[in-house]
Amino acid sequence: MPSYDYRCNHCGRSFALFFKSIKDYDPKGTHICPNCQSSDVVRRIKRVAIPKQGRDLSQLSSGEMLNVFNSGDSKEVGKMFQQVTDTTGVDAGATYNEATQRLLKGESMDSVERDLSSRPSSNSDPD
Ligand SMILES: [Zn+2]
Repeated sequence: MPSYDYRCNHCGRSFALFFKSIKDYDPKGTHICPNCQSSDVVRRIKRVAIPKQGRDLSQLSSGEMLNVFNSGDSKEVGKMFQQVTDTTGVDAGATYNEATQRLLKGESMDSVERDLSSRPSSNSDPD
């Protein structure tokens, strides 16, 4: 079961959150510190080996998907998002699709996450 390491900005406690699959991981979701129930938590990115270029990323195991996330390689994550969407045929929504496109352009995951999570939930395009 993949897990993400988080640190709480409120109490400083580190903890891990578990997700059944990549689809259960919501980058714009609110995560709660199990110690003090603060939602002021940040994900800790670990540097790990990333899959070889050209692989079918939608066929990765959840552990391998986690590695792609943790690699911090935006384009790989964007590609994975896209392939998962293509494979499952699920419309994950405008925010997910925008995140995918921005990641594919090489924008940093943190920047995309921050930007999209701070945006009021609407489908309007400010541009
Ligand atoms: Zn805390």
